[in-house]
Amino acid sequence: MELLKRTIIEKGKIIGDDIVKVDAFINHQIDTFLLDQIGKEIKRLFNDKKITKILTIETSGIPFACLAAIHLNYIPVVFAKKQKSAILSDECHTANVFSFTKKQEYQISVDKNYLSTSDQILIIDDFLANGEAAKGLIKVANEAGAHIVGFCSIIEKSFQSGRQNIWSDYPNIEIKSLASIKAIDNNQILFNED
Ligand code: 5GP
Repeated sequence: MELLKRTIIEKGKIIGDDIVKVDAFINHQIDTFLLDQIGKEIKRLFNDKKITKILTIETSGIPFACLAAIHLNYIPVVFAKKQKSAILSDECHTANVFSFTKKQEYQISVDKNYLSTSDQILIIDDFLANGEAAKGLIKVANEAGAHIVGFCSIIEKSFQSGRQNIWSDYPNIEIKSLASIKAIDNNQILFNED
């Protein structure tokens, strides 16, 4: 997606060897025009699929999930919470996720009331790095008996192992990304061709 790639080049910041900070337009301040275009692009990519619900993870996945859901004809969005509440424990599907940016494990949970066997789920997250967050979301959706239509990351870093890591456990999941970074080289972001 050209607009997204251009914005990453113009406003993204490279941290170390493998992190792209996108606070200027996604993770802190949100470029709402870009967000709307991303929603439209997700609809275009998954237009041939029947999707009843979007599943994402708080916090950064929520705006993309909402715009995609609006463009997919106002379907509901469910977001996994990052801390399990003791009160909800038996009523939730849970998964442990190792955070790539914080380097620690946390638990995600989704109330069993909000996912069901009749759901056709599209999973969305802002980044695909090593695939841990995506795998946690897939586990939660599988536990609920929902059908997973695909996983969509807004920004994939293909030089990391996320796609392979997901496919080694879930070989049938369709994975799409809107911008795919093949390398960070000499303080420059290089993209894969669409
Ligand atoms: P994974 O679970 O695939 O290893 O990492 C994905 C999660 O880590 C995303 O939910 C995202 O919040 C965070 N993340 C991974 N890489 C980056 C990055 O380069 N920049 C930012 N801002 N977040 C990242």
